[in-house]
Amino acid sequence: MNPTRPTGSIHAGPPTGRSVRGPIFARRADWQVVWFKRDLRIGDHAPLMEALQQGPVIGLYLYEPELLESPEWDASHSRFIAEALRELESEWTRRGGCLLLRRGEAVEQLERLHRETGFVRLWSHEETGNRLTFDRDLRVVRWCRERGIDWQERRQDGVVRRLRSRDGWAERWAKSMSGRIESSPEVLGSGRPTGLVSDGVLGPEQLGLGPVIPIELQRGGETAAREVLGSFLEERGVGYRAEMSSPLTAWTACSRLSAHLAWGCVSMRTVHQAAGHRQEALRAMLSAGEPLDRRWSGAIASFQARLRWHCHFMQKLEDEPRIEFENFNPVYDGLREAFTESEEGQQRLEAWRQGRIGFPMVDACLRAVRATGWLNFRMRALVMSVASYHLWLHWRPTAIHLARCFLDFEPGIHFSQAQMQSGTTGINTVRIYSPTRQALEQDPKGVFIRRWVPELAGVPDVFLAEPWRMTRSQQEAARCVIGVDYPAPRVDPRRSVIEAKERIARVRSSAAAREASRRVYLRHGSRKGHAFRGADAEARYRQGLLSEAQGPGAEPEHGPVQQELFG
Ligand SMILES: Cc1cc2nc3c(=O)[nH]c(=O)nc-3n(C[C@H](O)[C@H](O)[C@H](O)COP(=O)(O)OP(=O)(O)OC[C@H]3O[C@@H](n4cnc5c(N)ncnc54)[C@H](O)[C@@H]3O)c2cc1C
Repeated sequence: MNPTRPTGSIHAGPPTGRSVRGPIFARRADWQVVWFKRDLRIGDHAPLMEALQQGPVIGLYLYEPELLESPEWDASHSRFIAEALRELESEWTRRGGCLLLRRGEAVEQLERLHRETGFVRLWSHEETGNRLTFDRDLRVVRWCRERGIDWQERRQDGVVRRLRSRDGWAERWAKSMSGRIESSPEVLGSGRPTGLVSDGVLGPEQLGLGPVIPIELQRGGETAAREVLGSFLEERGVGYRAEMSSPLTAWTACSRLSAHLAWGCVSMRTVHQAAGHRQEALRAMLSAGEPLDRRWSGAIASFQARLRWHCHFMQKLEDEPRIEFENFNPVYDGLREAFTESEEGQQRLEAWRQGRIGFPMVDACLRAVRATGWLNFRMRALVMSVASYHLWLHWRPTAIHLARCFLDFEPGIHFSQAQMQSGTTGINTVRIYSPTRQALEQDPKGVFIRRWVPELAGVPDVFLAEPWRMTRSQQEAARCVIGVDYPAPRVDPRRSVIEAKERIARVRSSAAAREASRRVYLRHGSRKGHAFRGADAEARYRQGLLSEAQGPGAEPEHGPVQQELFG
């Protein structure tokens, strides 16, 4: 491992580590530092383009120990990032630029770089991260002030800082998405300065996170992102609408762009505009009478809506960072905490994490996501819903486990969705997904279940969703004795749901809950499709005409396939 301590004089060559070689590096009054965070690309990178106009640029990426040690970080994230950084580093080198990859706390590393270069301006994209990154940004703001450094941040997607009201948000989002896409710069520097140490690309092992044993993890980087986007829009996406819900078909029919968007290997604007161009091309083909699969147009429209949801959910965390830890709607406080802490709660949590709760579809999903880093939306909702309702676990520890599993962990989407699937927002329809029904509908021949839960390989199709219904002799014939080879269901699937419904209904029907939900809606609810604003929105909400029940993230096209508690 390379030392991360400052080298002192910038002219003194580094004792160890990879130096960025070239002419003698000089302190200059106009050095610009571009700090890469969740934007690992050079295409459509506004801060980079602007910085280049102001003076010579140094690129910087930091491996920050406090993030690497945080509970939601996983070795697989570092592997994906390392792949993206490898490409970024080679693109910088090819363009004559200096990209430093350094390990250490942000302020310490900025101080070190400032001592080395005397840089005057720091550039980055705005980040809607978790509390750790928020607090780190506050420290950086203070440090910049003390050093007289100008920190320029630019918006990365459709999330608006210091948003006053959700009214008109969707229109603002559309406008921002139709903005100019920055091209990749041809040149990033003139010569490569000596004296600056880069720790180079560090993978999970070098970062002390242990090896990743991947089965089918996605590859990171700008090139991979472009390929994934192209193949979705031109080939894979045709069956998107009908095929997004089954884990068998979703693997190829969904865009699979989420990890690239989360780590910024491609910009949201690039994806949005590429989808728009595809939609226009489809229309032109239609009007020219060219042969065309009619499913394409609907597929692209559904995909475009989800791109907006991406920012819609992130906006919630931006507006109210406490939802990373606390219920959107405080009337649900105390509902599941004590049980989750109890011995039974902890055992259920551990069984769920391991994919051993005895519901085959849920166990298959939990094991699959550990190995591949990805699950489709419906299956994410299923595992979260079963944890929250059937097992009665608080969303926070289950969300943390899934954050580690998902290669695309995006705090704003993740914590909002975790709460939405746990019924703690107060503004969404409460849905309790049935593991049996999802198995029968989405994996009728048990292909997915048998792949990820091999103990069930010999179980006949008719019992695969509920293997505990087999008689003892049927279990022996299937070489799967329940309670021995595969766990009995951790809870009674029907009774646990009835109890969960009663508990939620008791809280939800109170006047305090309705009032708190109103506040949540006015702050966070999607106004998309509702032609009214401000006070009017409040009036309509009170009349029960507004909610987010069928709004973003609710898979509205496919109707209410889930068991709904409140319509
Ligand atoms: C409990 C739970 C946790 C989730 N955590 C994350 C997360 O950490 N990161 C993440 O990107 N998505 C998360 N999602 C949303 C969604 O499941 C994924 O975005 C999607 O499955 C990613 O696959 P894809 O790129 O092929 O999506 P596609 O269906 O191809 O959609 C395209 C893009 O739209 C966005 N998107 C799609 N569905 C949603 C949605 N329901 N809400 C918000 N944005 C959406 C994503 O950026 C996605 O890449 C979560 C959903 C649930 C139920």
